[in-house]
Amino acid sequence: MSTSHPQTVPTIPTVKLNNGVEIPQLGFGVFQVPDDETTTAVSAALEAGYRSIDTAAIYGNETGVGRALAASDIPREDLFITTKLWNADQGYDATLRAFDTSLGKLGLDHVDLYLIHWPTPARDLYADSWRAIERLATEGRIRAAGVSNFQPAHLQRLQDTGDLVPAVNQVELHPGLQQAELRAFHAAHGIATEAWSPLAQGAVLDDPAVTAIAERTGKSPAQVVLRWHLQLGTIVIPKSVTPARIRQNVDVFDFELTAQDMTAINATDRDLRTGPHPDQFN
Ligand code: NDP
Repeated sequence: MSTSHPQTVPTIPTVKLNNGVEIPQLGFGVFQVPDDETTTAVSAALEAGYRSIDTAAIYGNETGVGRALAASDIPREDLFITTKLWNADQGYDATLRAFDTSLGKLGLDHVDLYLIHWPTPARDLYADSWRAIERLATEGRIRAAGVSNFQPAHLQRLQDTGDLVPAVNQVELHPGLQQAELRAFHAAHGIATEAWSPLAQGAVLDDPAVTAIAERTGKSPAQVVLRWHLQLGTIVIPKSVTPARIRQNVDVFDFELTAQDMTAINATDRDLRTGPHPDQFN
């Protein structure tokens, strides 16, 4: 590692995907970050020790991510970059074109993980999009192929019609929406679970179960929630544009929740969705 980076940056554990590729278990999300602020936020995240960055074509900030990557001296092989295919670009040819556009904006020659952003079942194009993504994987332009917001029926369809099993399904998941059934499906089929809105965009940080553990451990509620995810085994991608929070959210590898803490947070599951339901979003 370069000497320009602090010695104290944490070592982030990795999760091995079903094709052997390893993804950092904790990464940095940039949803709702304007393009011109994204470079600063991603640079701060890389400085703090994050190596995995989660963007999407629809976020409009792939260029900002790319600028931060270009300015960094971290070797490409130490980075893990995810982007996503937007709904309007689904279909075989459109997917290939959209991927080229994303790659150009990021300034990269490959991405580590490419996701179908939503199944949008009413369009009925996700199986065609998946065939295009399988081609990108065969060509070595993506290291892993995955999906986002897929329900078991959508995953099953890909298993029935496609060659590759998605390496990842990135879904809304946090203490208020624990997705036990979906996680069990993933575990049974070798699909890694990645949690979006891992902090429920802040909506679970006042939960008494969380704040009680935060007080006892001297950690922040966000750190407690991220620890819950890590111990559950999910991949997390918290977002922040606040430098102190960016550092805080990656500083979660020096404490552990007890089995009792995990049980207390597990008991707060309450069907709390901050985003749309995947069956209805088209
Ligand atoms: P998060 O659950 O990560 O929450 C982000 C919010 O929490 C921001 O308002 C942030 O504020 C605040 N926050 C962050 N850290 C702390 C902290 N330590 N203490 C208190 N507040 C904190 O929400 P996101 O929706 O952004 O989800 C994370 C990532 O998941 C996205 O950025 C994106 O990459 C991905 N995602 C994917 C989706 C999909 O459909 N595949 C959908 C939604 C998200 P501030 O920034 O002001 O510091």
